[in-house]
Amino acid sequence: FPFPYAPYRIQEQFMEALYGALEAGRVGIFESPTGTGKSLSLICGALSWLRDWEEKRRQEEARLLALGAGGPDGLTPQQARPGSGDTAGQPDWVTAFVRQKEERDMVDRLKEEQIRRKKREDRLEKIRHNVQLKYAAKRKRCEEDEAKRLLQLSKEALSQGAAEGVLDQLDHNEEELILAEYESDDEKKVVSGLEEDDDDDLEEEHVTKIYYCSRTHSQLSQFVREVQKSPFGKDTRLVSLGSRQNLCVNEEVRRLGALQLINDRCMEMQKNKHEKKSDEENEGKKRRVSHTVCPFYSYEQMQFLRDEVLVEVKDIEQLVSLGRETKACPYYGSRFAIPAAQLVVLPYQMLLHEPTRNAAGIKLKDQVVIIDEAHNLIDTITCIHSAEVSGSQLCCAHSQLSQYMERYRKRLKAKNLMYIKQILYLLERFVAMLGGNVNQNPGCQAVSQTGTVLKSINDFLFQSQIDNINLFKVQRYCEKSLISRKLFGFVERYGGPASAVKTNKENQKLAGLQNFLLTLQQGSVKEGTLQSPPVEAEHDQVRTASPLMQIEGFLSALTNANQDGRVILNRQGTVGQSSLKFLLLNPAVHFAKVVEECRAVIIAGGTMQPVADFREQLLCCAGVDPARIVEFSCGHVIPPENILPIILCSGPSNQQLEFTYQTRDLPQMMDETGRILCNLCNVIPGGVVCFFPSYEYEKQVYGHWEQTGLLSRLAAKKKIFQEPKKANQVEQVLVEYAKCIKRCSQTGGQMTGALLLSVVGGKMSEGINFSDDLGRCVIMVGMPYPNIRSPELQEKMTWLDKTMPRAAGQAPSRVLIENLCMKAVNQSIGRAIRHQKDFASILLLDHRYTRPAIFNKLPQWIRERTQVKPAFGSAFAELRKFHRGKLDAL
Ligand code: SF4
Repeated sequence: FPFPYAPYRIQEQFMEALYGALEAGRVGIFESPTGTGKSLSLICGALSWLRDWEEKRRQEEARLLALGAGGPDGLTPQQARPGSGDTAGQPDWVTAFVRQKEERDMVDRLKEEQIRRKKREDRLEKIRHNVQLKYAAKRKRCEEDEAKRLLQLSKEALSQGAAEGVLDQLDHNEEELILAEYESDDEKKVVSGLEEDDDDDLEEEHVTKIYYCSRTHSQLSQFVREVQKSPFGKDTRLVSLGSRQNLCVNEEVRRLGALQLINDRCMEMQKNKHEKKSDEENEGKKRRVSHTVCPFYSYEQMQFLRDEVLVEVKDIEQLVSLGRETKACPYYGSRFAIPAAQLVVLPYQMLLHEPTRNAAGIKLKDQVVIIDEAHNLIDTITCIHSAEVSGSQLCCAHSQLSQYMERYRKRLKAKNLMYIKQILYLLERFVAMLGGNVNQNPGCQAVSQTGTVLKSINDFLFQSQIDNINLFKVQRYCEKSLISRKLFGFVERYGGPASAVKTNKENQKLAGLQNFLLTLQQGSVKEGTLQSPPVEAEHDQVRTASPLMQIEGFLSALTNANQDGRVILNRQGTVGQSSLKFLLLNPAVHFAKVVEECRAVIIAGGTMQPVADFREQLLCCAGVDPARIVEFSCGHVIPPENILPIILCSGPSNQQLEFTYQTRDLPQMMDETGRILCNLCNVIPGGVVCFFPSYEYEKQVYGHWEQTGLLSRLAAKKKIFQEPKKANQVEQVLVEYAKCIKRCSQTGGQMTGALLLSVVGGKMSEGINFSDDLGRCVIMVGMPYPNIRSPELQEKMTWLDKTMPRAAGQAPSRVLIENLCMKAVNQSIGRAIRHQKDFASILLLDHRYTRPAIFNKLPQWIRERTQVKPAFGSAFAELRKFHRGKLDAL
């Protein structure tokens, strides 16, 4: 495998296993601990396979074309399709004729593909080597800009002349707020629209490619940088996809802040562009309406951008700069590059959410998908497809939509009115399910029966009396009509202070509407029902999305199959505080298509243990044949002597360590934990990170230590830091923590470093590295089991027990709980070893870690080296020896 340096053995093994899985079309679960160069192994293994595969295909094509060139009889059926038998009952000559025709068609297709590919390669090659061409493209853009500017100037001059007297009954710009005539798909005879038109032009062969997705934007950027540095960096056609929030270069749209608003605004502008086109075509017949279009959505410029994306590997930031420079939209330009790209880098949402995937033009058929950082994949799929709406949002959306309907009642077409009424009815019923009334202020309506109730989708639809409404159609209507965007525009315009800054003329007009809105509100006040639309400040940098947008997500979640989800009615305090939540129980339904369509799927991560969840809950439930699943787990690059994992069963005063809900609050347990830490801090240099199962428990223990004076004893050896609850304070705590450790190591003295009290699943258990001195020892206090009293978890457990078989005599729900706990443990303890020369000790405080079912869920490279210590003395001696030895070696 081409590699930037001599790979470690485990990297070679990883690449070999990956190559094999892709070649054989498998679904692979790949584990390679962080710090072992996983990204590079993924890149070099997968791209090597792709390169070989392309080469084989080229040879096969050349062979077929050579045979095809021999004339109609050049191919024999056997040569062309070995192994295919005669069609039963047909004379030989018919079968032969059909086959020959098929072969000729195939040869023609291959020729066409070859020509197309050749054209593309020539074009990209030219761009790569010809600066002149780039310059020509740039000059053309400048010329076009100038022409546009002149055109705009003359239009303005013209419109100034005819300025007065053209105002209609409604404000000119207000036209944009009115819903266009709506036709549902089954009523639409002719499909039209800019996107569809362009799609025809753009229909291009999707070459075999690798879709690589990861969790965060920074992980994707990091991956692209690794590709750039790899031996494949120069000649791989890579495209990075992102959301409009990341890629939009239209400053006015970007400024909207919220993703949904940016999406809607952008789509609306494209619709405008199309409508503008047809308006121009129908000039005279139809009244002209002024619509804004996005200047970056230029087909020609986006083609330039597409080609420039393909000639050189670029990350999102580079793509945005290129978009600004070329005045082309990187969001769409990058999508145009998908068919020809060999490697597509994209966020989870875009791959795992089918509508988003389709909208982006991603075709998974026979392609390779690699999902990295996949340890939380099941949760991620669940999250993407779950939705929650609060009582306030429901009431607010109802109020806004009613006012919108009243305002434009006369201008709306019957279909629009019908759908708006349906949505209003749905909102009314949802609020009723929470025990409230849409016509009253949700903040003032106390809920009589508080608590959490779970319902199946069908029960929910039935009990809320909406089972006679076709939610699929409503959902489609919301999507197509952009109703939430229109509503947002309406509220933005008339809902708050923004409407105060208007010209006199407009003020007069608005006065009428404001009065109207006021009467609505006053009317409500009389009945004690004030519910005004939210006030939006005109210069808000980031505006919150309108409530209807959120509700659309909930409506679409309700279209899931009955058995795959539940609706949680959470009634708390007031109707405003209560909420409806859709909980997806079976994430596999949304993953099934990915594994079904793709040639191969690789789920990779640093800590994939316990893998049973992936195999059973995700892959088997998605219909993957167990024979198609391969598992690969490699060790760490660090030498075995660089890590010392210990399971400690009792503390210095022989107190057995078992942190259950019943025992962990006992003073003797908290004291014993404190004594362990005090002892360890005496012999461990640098940073010690101690994980607690929850914020509450950490707070409780901290308070106890404060009272008993143990905290000051600890503080004499290590400066104590606590994980903050607020995400924006994490950075500062970490900086202080690192500074303190550095200072102590430089100055020496009594203080030997810092102790960080952290929380499992908190801000610091994922994505933050405690490499080298930052984490010489990681301590896990107890076992972080999830809260099984949570109704959501209980429902999931019941569902699992009903649908899954028992595994090794254990109920699936029990396995789930253990897996959730051990996944959290593995994530946390994996933070300390980050590279080959790193070293650290790991201490698991609870004798229950020795149970085989638990022990086997530790990552293999940790498990293999774990020592079980029934008594503290020997564990302490071992730890002291380990750290002394390491210090001497430094
Ligand atoms: S077309 Fe592109 S640049 Fe224009 S608004 Fe949409 S995302 Fe932004």
